Amino acid sequence: MVIRTVVWGENVHDQENPVVQQVYPDTLHGTIAAGLNEDAGIEATTATLQEPEHGLTEARLAETDVLLWWGHAAHGDVDDAVAARVAEAVWSGMGLIVLHSGHFAKVFLRLMGTACNLTWREAGERERLWITSPNHPIVAGLPNAFELEQEEMYGEPFGVPEPLETVFVSWFQGGEVFRSGLTYRRGAGNIFYFRPGHETYPTYHDANVKTVLKNAVHWANNPQARRTGVTDAPNVPADKAPEPLEVRGPRLHKDGEAGYR
Ligand code: ZN
Repeated sequence: MVIRTVVWGENVHDQENPVVQQVYPDTLHGTIAAGLNEDAGIEATTATLQEPEHGLTEARLAETDVLLWWGHAAHGDVDDAVAARVAEAVWSGMGLIVLHSGHFAKVFLRLMGTACNLTWREAGERERLWITSPNHPIVAGLPNAFELEQEEMYGEPFGVPEPLETVFVSWFQGGEVFRSGLTYRRGAGNIFYFRPGHETYPTYHDANVKTVLKNAVHWANNPQARRTGVTDAPNVPADKAPEPLEVRGPRLHKDGEAGYR
């Protein structure tokens, strides 16, 4: 079974900025998807902010195994209802890979529950990514460390919850460090945050980066059937309790009541 993968791009600088267009003539999301499609086990398509419901309808998400998210300039234009829908898809088992400036995407903020802030600098400096989790499936086929000659700097402290695993730590030419590859589990969904990918640099053409993303899609994919009703909060009345139970004391709720939200 191929992994049905959608690369979501906000598609703003891809359309407006000549530098970005020169580096990514096929758009960022188009380039990332093409890299993933080199893997016979992955079938990657794209969706963009400008499509109805940002290309992420209930039906599309239901048939998406792994979603990649690239956003930067237009996080605020993402509809709250779509962000909530994507988060719910993750809770139900869809994999999510959040790229670079997606740390401030509504979807990521919602799933992390923290500020997700960091320090940054756009100086075209060298980034060296060190593997901190050898033998992790996401680093299969990679050397112990690899470099990107030009990248934007992101520095610690990174305002995210403590991750499940730290897969990469980056060092930057200017001296800062950053936890640049982090895994999380939210509900039934696997999440990977991967730092590199500033749009004026050729990061997504880099062979090591392409390997990371292919590996990450395989890692994030949850082959189990998608869970349903992941936000349900059903009442279990006393007469349905697993053991015999006598109702005692005062009660706030009436029988059959839906409960507060
Ligand atoms: Zn950037």
